[in-house]
Amino acid sequence: MTIFRTGLLAASLIVLSGGAAFADYELDILHINDLHSRIEAINAFDSTCSAEEEGKNECFGGVARLKTAIDAERQALSGRNVLLLNAGDNFQGSLFYTTYKGAVEAEFLNLMKFDAMTVGNHEFDDSEDGLATFLDKVEFPVVTANVAAGASSKLGDRIKPFVVIERGGEKIGIVGAVANDTAEISSPGDNVLIGDDVADITAAVGELKKQGIDKIVALTHVGYPRDLAAIAKIPDVDVVVGGHTHTLLSNTADKAEGPYPTLVDNPGGYKVPVVQAGAYSKYLGKLKVVFDDAGVVRQATGEPVLIDSAFKPDEAVAARIKELAGPIEELKNKIVAETAAPVDGSRETCRAAECQMGNLVADAILDRTKDQGMTIAVTNGGGLRASIDAGPVSMGEVLSILPFQNTVATFQLKGSDLTAALENGLGQIEEGAGRFPQVSGLKYTFDKTKPAGSRLVSVEAKEGDAFVPLDPEKTYGVASNNYMRAGGDGYSVFATAATNAYDFGPNLEVVVADYLAAHRPYTPYTDGRIAEAAAPAAETQATAETAGEAASTETAPAAGAETGTAARSAETPADATGGGETAEAATPAGGKHVVVRGDTLWDLAREAYGDGTLWRRISEANGNPRPRALAIGSELEIPAR
Ligand SMILES: [Zn+2]
Repeated sequence: MTIFRTGLLAASLIVLSGGAAFADYELDILHINDLHSRIEAINAFDSTCSAEEEGKNECFGGVARLKTAIDAERQALSGRNVLLLNAGDNFQGSLFYTTYKGAVEAEFLNLMKFDAMTVGNHEFDDSEDGLATFLDKVEFPVVTANVAAGASSKLGDRIKPFVVIERGGEKIGIVGAVANDTAEISSPGDNVLIGDDVADITAAVGELKKQGIDKIVALTHVGYPRDLAAIAKIPDVDVVVGGHTHTLLSNTADKAEGPYPTLVDNPGGYKVPVVQAGAYSKYLGKLKVVFDDAGVVRQATGEPVLIDSAFKPDEAVAARIKELAGPIEELKNKIVAETAAPVDGSRETCRAAECQMGNLVADAILDRTKDQGMTIAVTNGGGLRASIDAGPVSMGEVLSILPFQNTVATFQLKGSDLTAALENGLGQIEEGAGRFPQVSGLKYTFDKTKPAGSRLVSVEAKEGDAFVPLDPEKTYGVASNNYMRAGGDGYSVFATAATNAYDFGPNLEVVVADYLAAHRPYTPYTDGRIAEAAAPAAETQATAETAGEAASTETAPAAGAETGTAARSAETPADATGGGETAEAATPAGGKHVVVRGDTLWDLAREAYGDGTLWRRISEANGNPRPRALAIGSELEIPAR
């Protein structure tokens, strides 16, 4: 805050001394964005690097390495005009955030001596309280023009629209902004108003111009597409340093989404360099801009620095991280909820059929995003890494289910594209692939005996309280995870056909822990939302003719039982009717059921127990009738659970 006041004072001075002409002015901008609490180093998958990976020099980033990289760059640039900027989303993404709620991020960012930061949407994840605590601690200015804190807000007036910083005798104005939809994707609360990024940056730029400042950096957390389309076009903005979309810009990296910097035509007749530096402390952006003496960028060059194992972690920072990690072990032991029964998350079920853990995670994702208009959740069975037992659930257990630090992704998708995504998910069941789609807000039937790509028999989406066939032309609000949204597990249709996507919502483990806590004790369940068409089915024609003798002649006990097993696993009866034609009235467990045309043991088990895989229970209670020859009109006992 001291810097801010100095800045204002200095700003009024330049008005007095304005008019002097200077030669070209060079400014070096170092920048990061979307740190997402990667206090510890990350591996190639952006999750916490293990000791083993560290031993093999396979780790990137982490604040100890980032500190080394920043120090090295400052050293190399000593005597020059250098700014270190932070484009937001330092919160959320590791247990350091979950445990310390921003205090640790503030501590390390202070050590790195940032010159300015804009808040990101995730800085509001713990409402304004979390951000207020962070603002209490940071020793650098936080600038976000479109955040207006009300009189009763704990943020006070600590978030300014802009700051003026002097380097080498020149004043640079830095104007911040956060995503316009922050109120929907995070939780700023009633005391904080998020305004329009362009309007509020424009107003702040007007203020800076009034103060005679003509070198203006927009430090934004609105995403690369919007930086290109809108921010870089604001009159008198000279440079855009962005975040939010985790975009890697580079002139050398294969995975770059654009050149570093990306140049955009400003209506003022000059080019604006736009930069962003990936995410998760993996890169340090490094831009050199040359202003002419009218304050217009004449030249912009640079390339982000990949912070790989060549950078030795700063020892003091590493020691402090170790110290801070102690209480995190305690957090892993913290009980967040209870379950009434074990929750099955085994690979055998979750990669082949509806599973309890899939329902829990998909339900939790949908519950968290329904206010944003999402009605369907799809998550990959392979992303579920563990089952949990009945009783108290610790945060460590939730992390064992979801260890990847993945985030919730939301987007719009046409029904036909969703169908394509489900077909992808069903395409490698026999290999036990992780892509199997666990869902919420959706019901589907599949036939795994069909060739991959044509296994989906029917799909229904929940509309209000009813399920209706998925409309291929309709656009649905879909929630998933950032891994699948990036095309992971073959879900390329999520990457190419999704619109209005936001990939970096809250972490999955946080969403699931919160959901469990809100539904304690949580009772695991399956409800038949995913049905397999190739289930043991009533062979209605044959049965009708031989109903009378079925009991006597068709006993061949062992054979009957074996047929059932085979039909369930692989051998599909040609006349299997699928999930569509089931008996009208569900028979509760503990009752009797009169067989009607089209009945299958699978469907009866699903109706009675909410789980088709329990069909053998009914089969055994009735002397293992041939599953493909249930006698119409015969009575089946449906045993209690
Ligand atoms: Zn963001």
